[in-house]
Amino acid sequence: MAASDHHPSVLLVEDEPAQREVLAYNLEAEGFRVTKAGNGEEALVLVDEYPPDVIVLDWMLPNLSGIEVCRRLKTRSETRAVPIIMLSARSEEVDRVRGLETGADDYVVKPYSVVELMARVRAQLRRTRPASMGEVLEYEDIRLDAETHRVTRSDAPLKLGPTEFRLLSTFMEKPGRVWTREQLLDRVWGRDVYVDTRTVDVHVGRLRKALCYHGGEDPVRTVRGAGYALG
Ligand code: CA
Repeated sequence: MAASDHHPSVLLVEDEPAQREVLAYNLEAEGFRVTKAGNGEEALVLVDEYPPDVIVLDWMLPNLSGIEVCRRLKTRSETRAVPIIMLSARSEEVDRVRGLETGADDYVVKPYSVVELMARVRAQLRRTRPASMGEVLEYEDIRLDAETHRVTRSDAPLKLGPTEFRLLSTFMEKPGRVWTREQLLDRVWGRDVYVDTRTVDVHVGRLRKALCYHGGEDPVRTVRGAGYALG
């Protein structure tokens, strides 16, 4: 079963095949799932097909420029929150790109060191997908350690199955966000797994039971006609 939260996905947009392959190789070696695009148009299609956790986007692309791709992604509600790291050829370009207010989250100048770029990718993920980077998440009296897979509530350890753990880490990464059953299926079970949406209800039920095992209020909210949210 795909444990998609353990392997964050990167959309890599680079038109030079050699650079694209080296980068993809290094990202995969770090455990990332990589989707590759050779131009901006392809990137805009793939971003819907395989929603990434972070995007590495070359500025100089044929036809649709990296800047334009960035702008479009940052104006769409579905992709606005996805961090974008822009690659540019010279530091003067970085200043220019910054001035254009594309909304990119970070900039890396070519030639970059792969080690440096990996660090920047991880930094973006720690901010947006902390559970995937093994961070400790806290919500009210609930504490989830993504590294050791320990969950406590008011310091009392809780027993969670692997699916319930992934559900809780998804909720805790964005408290208050309403997740549809389909979004939870994608995130928790993985895109390629066929599971009925009712399965989500079953596991949310188990998660609730586990969270309230030692007492306390049910922190998971059912949003009628929409899905679930934490708090
Ligand atoms: Ca290029």
